[in-house]
Amino acid sequence: MHILIVEDNALVASGIRAGLQLHGFTSDWAAGVAQAQAHLAARGYDACVLDLGLPDGDGMALLRRWRAAGQMLPVLILSARTTLQDKVEGLQSGSDDYLAKPFDLPELVARLQALLRRAGGRASDRIRLGRCEVDMASGEVWCDGLRVELARREWGLLQALIQARGRVLSTAQLHDCLYGFEQDVESNTVNVHVHHLRKKLGAGLIETVRGQGFRLGAGA
Ligand code: CA
Repeated sequence: MHILIVEDNALVASGIRAGLQLHGFTSDWAAGVAQAQAHLAARGYDACVLDLGLPDGDGMALLRRWRAAGQMLPVLILSARTTLQDKVEGLQSGSDDYLAKPFDLPELVARLQALLRRAGGRASDRIRLGRCEVDMASGEVWCDGLRVELARREWGLLQALIQARGRVLSTAQLHDCLYGFEQDVESNTVNVHVHHLRKKLGAGLIETVRGQGFRLGAGA
């Protein structure tokens, strides 16, 4: 899952990014409104953590513009504005959740996971894929009842395919899910991760759609 973090405080942003990385999320950081717009125009994200007090504008106004333009990106507002009125206004402006600063990282991660669960149309974090079972919250995977260890990128790729709910994701989209802007990586890495996932979880788990990309296999 690829999360956009819009936060002008570099220390807070790097703390969030480190915490998310531990849970297998990839993130990009935007320090203000303009950069957030540029990031969002450049690639797709699974969710956004949005600060309100930004140096070049207001997060709430940005969110209203996104929603007016039909941007459905799940958004969690993370703000030092903590009155009831602020929270109500945030939710009415189109945020999916609102967490007050100071915050605890485990709560932020849990709320993001809940948000992604809803966006992915799942009632529970435990899902069955053919012979495999996946816990989307903990990142644990079992195949034929046996625990399988996945590398971070493999888990990220599997998360993205599950979140897509059978839609085909192009190699470029999967690449975006796995790597932030800062990372310059070989273009065939997605294929390598797919290969490893198939070896670990069975060839039928991921289907290649010729000329288009990958999706969860019919047997999954
Ligand atoms: Ca701020």
